[in-house]
Amino acid sequence: MSNTINAGVAAVKVLEEWGVKHIYGIPGGSINSFMDALLHEKDEITYIQVRHEEVGAMAASMHAKFTGHIGVAFGSAGPGGTHLLNGLYDAREDHVPVLAIVGQFATTGMNMDTFQEMNENPIYADVAVYNRTVTTAEQLPHIIDEAIRQAYAKNGVAVVQLPVDLGTKEIPSQAFYSAANAYRKLPRPSLHFADIESAVEILENSEKTVIYAGIGARGAGDDIVALARKIKAPVAVTGIAYDVFDSDFEGLLGSANRVAIKPANDAFPNADTVLFVGNNYPFAEVTNVFENVKNFIQIDLNPANLGKRHHNDVTILGDAGDAIREITRQISEKAETPWWRANLLNIQNWRDYVTKLETKTAGNLQLYQVYHQINQHAAADAIFSIDVGDVTQTSVRHLHLNPKQMWRTSNLFATMGIGIPGAITAKLDFPNRQVWNLAGDGGFNMVMQDLATQVQYNLPIINLVFSNQQFGFIKDEQEDTNSGYFGVEFAGVEFAKIADAMGAKGYTLTRLADAKTVFEHALADVANGLTVLIDAKISTDRPIPVESLILDDKIHTAADIAAFRKRYEAEDLVPFADFLKAEGIEPEYKATDLGGF
Ligand code: FAD
Ligand code: MG
Repeated sequence: MSNTINAGVAAVKVLEEWGVKHIYGIPGGSINSFMDALLHEKDEITYIQVRHEEVGAMAASMHAKFTGHIGVAFGSAGPGGTHLLNGLYDAREDHVPVLAIVGQFATTGMNMDTFQEMNENPIYADVAVYNRTVTTAEQLPHIIDEAIRQAYAKNGVAVVQLPVDLGTKEIPSQAFYSAANAYRKLPRPSLHFADIESAVEILENSEKTVIYAGIGARGAGDDIVALARKIKAPVAVTGIAYDVFDSDFEGLLGSANRVAIKPANDAFPNADTVLFVGNNYPFAEVTNVFENVKNFIQIDLNPANLGKRHHNDVTILGDAGDAIREITRQISEKAETPWWRANLLNIQNWRDYVTKLETKTAGNLQLYQVYHQINQHAAADAIFSIDVGDVTQTSVRHLHLNPKQMWRTSNLFATMGIGIPGAITAKLDFPNRQVWNLAGDGGFNMVMQDLATQVQYNLPIINLVFSNQQFGFIKDEQEDTNSGYFGVEFAGVEFAKIADAMGAKGYTLTRLADAKTVFEHALADVANGLTVLIDAKISTDRPIPVESLILDDKIHTAADIAAFRKRYEAEDLVPFADFLKAEGIEPEYKATDLGGF
């Protein structure tokens, strides 16, 4: 047995020990020793050649969101590395582990302003929890191992700069080092029972409670539903936490603000108590969402987030499921309450509204009917990679999600273009599951070159582009805040032709009457292993702004209400105040403050 090992190969073997299966990137002179190591190890780890490093880094970040495991991407010195940054910031903002390996000129030319050579550490200093340049070949495997441990421990981005010559060197076999077998997650903290008792006391004495779940409640959906039904408290979610629950749970209020639905925006101003579970809602302080709330109870695992978004009356450090189950065990059951009934009716009224839009059979093709087709064809465990823009909002309104499915996007950094890379990694990670990329034409335009990557790796993904020749989400903001539209409309693209030219199967859907057939053909193609794209040429109708509803005659004129109802096809939408009054509850009238938008 040889008592030396190639340093680059040793680095790749560390990745293998940590269970890394795919690595995304583009070669370059400054990263070629690493490419040689990947060639050597190609049976153990699969290199995915993307068409832009940004897509590689976003795929790595989305891999971490879909699987919980570290994602790995690389780029060459200078531009190859800086192209990674959007994906790396996405991982940083969503607190998921990603490792980036960035090329560097050989040590012989470092610090001498040679080609593509610069001091790279400052570039990544802000995005990374760990950021080092390798200086000897012997260090290389150790630094990769350290980077992975740090990324996992700190839920963030680790960046390793690798001078190209060091990857070519032979090092003693003993220098290979991996701590993968020592990896452990921190145990869940044990609950502090006095806090649970305080929470139970408040919840028993509150009449209008909302349980407000974030993605920290993943896996605890059934437990929360059991508590909700026991204490008659409807459940709101953050915009990214819909798949924690079955979409047909009768008490699901949905999310608040703009990526939102009416029932949640209605409920908060009228609630007296909020049970904030695994939730770090970033609009809390900058909007008036909790203005009328008297009791605030928080359950969170991360001490740094306790009390962060609102003053807590009760603080429970712990796992969402553990705490919810314990509260449910201790709390007494409430009989049906006016609050529960009013919210259930409001939720049902909203559901009737969206169903009516989705199932229209006449008129222009709107996004709603496209979602109807998606719901008809989505597998019970489908994976949705969601781009940023109107599609973020409309997908949570119209997809019938459940906890066996996965819905993931760029949550807080909110970078456009995340749909394609997310779908690539989802299909590689879960080859037997149905994978959708849902994108607007704005987001798709930014990364569409990587449709070629889906084809190159034979990934049967359904790419759905909602084409309306505009940045719809921003256009709607401009309608509300600006003197006119500017920079939000653009020339259309025949995406189906691009798909065909790249070797995928493209469909253009323009007429509502064709929707069913187009989806049937597209889904058949996917079943036959093809990459598919459906370019749905939808109307430019604005989705209803649930943050500024004009429905209530106590606040708005009859003419304004009529115009609003007509524009948003909302003839049957009932003001929440009506449901509350019918139950004997005096409604709070208050405009939503969008907090700077
Ligand atoms: P995170 O911010 O990830 O917080 C999760 C919390 O759970 C953390 O505090 C964590 O410590 C805790 N936690 C983790 N595990 C556990 C556990 N086991 N037990 C207990 N606690 C745990 N969202 C909206 O709600 N409304 C909007 O209008 C909205 N607009 C958006 C617009 C766009 C274009 C995009 C892309 C996103 C938008 N979002 C919106 C999403 C928003 O940016 C935030 O990402 C989201 O609200 C944060 O959700 P979260 O608090 O569930 O997740
Ligand atoms: Mg658009």
